Amino acid sequence: MRTATVCLVVFAAACSDDSASSPVAPTNPMAPTTSGFTLSGTVRDSRPNGPALAGATVRLDTGQSTASSSDGRYRFQNVSGAVTVTASGPHHVAASETATMDQDRTVDFALAHTGIPPFEGTVFISPRLIDSSDSTSLMNVTYAGQGMREVFDRRVDRWIKVDAYLFDVRYGWGAVEFQVNPEFGSVDAARAEVDTYAPALGRLPAFLMTNAREVEINDGVELFGGNPNGSFLIHTGQGQRYIDDGFLEEILFHEAAHVSLDARHANAPGWTTAQTADGVFVSTYARDNPGREDVAESILPYFAVRRRSARLGDADRTAILAAIPNRLEYFDRQGFAN
Ligand SMILES: [Zn+2]
Repeated sequence: MRTATVCLVVFAAACSDDSASSPVAPTNPMAPTTSGFTLSGTVRDSRPNGPALAGATVRLDTGQSTASSSDGRYRFQNVSGAVTVTASGPHHVAASETATMDQDRTVDFALAHTGIPPFEGTVFISPRLIDSSDSTSLMNVTYAGQGMREVFDRRVDRWIKVDAYLFDVRYGWGAVEFQVNPEFGSVDAARAEVDTYAPALGRLPAFLMTNAREVEINDGVELFGGNPNGSFLIHTGQGQRYIDDGFLEEILFHEAAHVSLDARHANAPGWTTAQTADGVFVSTYARDNPGREDVAESILPYFAVRRRSARLGDADRTAILAAIPNRLEYFDRQGFAN
């Protein structure tokens, strides 16, 4: 097929029946070796800060098709006559333009996002974003005896007072008190739970730990939590599920955003402006809880595309960049150091 195509385009005359018996030498080496013209352009997202769209499908009504490059560019050669060119992407509404190809022409596209959140919940994009191959800032754990503490227990859905096993846990960025429910029965059993969760917390970037004060550990299969008062909530039955599936660091990352970022950012004018400019949420969970969950749902995707891009699949990276460009830019402006 390749040979036939080359023959048709470059040596059309030589291939015809009439001339088959007499070899034809090129008479003008400067003559064009193609017919028609070049149609090229870029495909972008239509919003302010909207990214160039990589991997968008661009199709001509002649049947030719190509995919945009990493910077959103596409190109067709040998196009002539009136053509309709259509651009589409997995997260964007398709658009068409017509062009009369009597010369080289440029057709640029600005596609509207579909508005559909690309993820259900961003904690579960990939278990590889932060894992045991990442270093931990955990320095040491010291048992500090038992003491009365008020901890939240989702099994009864309220704050309870317990004579908790207390551990002073030191990280490179500061110290946190681990408060382990006495239901675990012994200092050793409580220490084992601290040893399970303390290193994972140390794998999170320090900018998420600026308000971290305590970690409450209960038994039970209940959701984790993060509170702007500085506390993390862990239920170890659920924790084992996260560990088995590889999502322990990712769920702690999400909760850390509630602990350290919500108070400063969730209602900040720059953030709400970015929400409006994007007009799209990164997850259905964020869309359904825009005031409470949007920062926590958006910060892990931000970290993923800015700091862990090589661990993201192409489709996930594209989905994040296309969904929330203004929120990503908002986080860029915060100067999160590490
Ligand atoms: Zn949350």
